[in-house]
Amino acid sequence: MIDPVLPTYARAPIVVERGEGCWLIDAEGRRWLDFGAGIAVNALGHAHPALVEALSTQAAKLWHTSNLYRIPGQERLAARMVEASFADTVFFTNSGVEAMECAIKTARKFHSHNGAPERWRMIAFEGSFHGRSLATIALAGQEKLVKGFGPMPDGFDHVPFGDHEALRAAIGPETAAVVIEPVQGEGGVRPIPAQCLRGLRDLCDEHGILLVYDEIQCGYGRTGKLFAHEWSGATPDVMAVAKAIGGGFPLGACLATERAAAGMTAGTHGSTYGGNPLAMAVGNAVLDVMLDPGFLPRVSAAAGRLRQRLEGLAARFPAVVEGVRGEGLMLGLKCAAPNTDVVAKARDAGLLLVPAGDNVVRVLPPLIVTDAEIDEGAERLEAACAALAG
Ligand SMILES: *Cc1c(COP(=O)(O)O)cnc(C)c1O
Repeated sequence: MIDPVLPTYARAPIVVERGEGCWLIDAEGRRWLDFGAGIAVNALGHAHPALVEALSTQAAKLWHTSNLYRIPGQERLAARMVEASFADTVFFTNSGVEAMECAIKTARKFHSHNGAPERWRMIAFEGSFHGRSLATIALAGQEKLVKGFGPMPDGFDHVPFGDHEALRAAIGPETAAVVIEPVQGEGGVRPIPAQCLRGLRDLCDEHGILLVYDEIQCGYGRTGKLFAHEWSGATPDVMAVAKAIGGGFPLGACLATERAAAGMTAGTHGSTYGGNPLAMAVGNAVLDVMLDPGFLPRVSAAAGRLRQRLEGLAARFPAVVEGVRGEGLMLGLKCAAPNTDVVAKARDAGLLLVPAGDNVVRVLPPLIVTDAEIDEGAERLEAACAALAG
């Protein structure tokens, strides 16, 4: 008999009752160190006092009005995100996939608005992940995402990861945009080198096509900059963010330059819940914390410590961990043993991690992780590696 919950996830046998910072706790008081952070969502950990306060205060005042009226929290968060980024304008959504859908529509609309409706195709990279809607699985093009779901929406072309020649060859008169994660997440924590992003920016400019970033996983402080592409200096025309921007409250956003968004006028796009007062209260509170001048430098310091610990484990247990990759606190263990075994053994040791493609295990602690918690996590992972090394 089918489970009443549609069984699209192979869930671990953990029932969490509450969270505190980097820790998750079950009804019996068992504690897990959460180095998955809801897949890079709980950037400020669990039950952060400022977020709890922002959400409960707003909950007592107003939940929903629709976007037919002005929403002050939305205007404020949009203005602050514009101020802190390349963008001139922001559309709020409830999830990452909706932010990507908005990005796809914005890029297509840009060209039709500029008299080139034939430019509607997008180029994406193998191993990419952009969400689970039909358009975004077609965009990513991965076999495991699209299999069995019938003919995919047309307009998406794919090139191998890091293949510059294939990319050049794929650009044609119908190309509207290139879409890329500055650090691939699901694909196995693969950073795009800064010079490649800069080259991509030039290539897009040369051909008059838009550059779209998916920073849903790598953005918002995860790499030690507010946005991962800031390390390269190559800004996009359109960018999707989500996950960390709501710190656990469902929230996404599509950011764009004024030029790229010119065709997105009243009536062209919308969302019932996007940018609702509850999400905006939390979103503003998350940004308050992240824009504190000490916040991002601390992320980089924590990242240095964690990476060093992980490199040490890779050196000691080469039969389990081949190497460490990633940027900031978006780290991946390229495994020699099956990554799902590493995740399971770490869980037995009280440490939660997340598997990714390319036999990688993602290490994505909350960005507020302390040095003591990094050391604790490393010890638990060491126990898991020792158990697997036999
Ligand atoms: C998680 C993720 C998405 C999809 O976000 P949802 O909120 O699950 O819709 C898209 N792109 C990337 C890079 C992601 O990591």
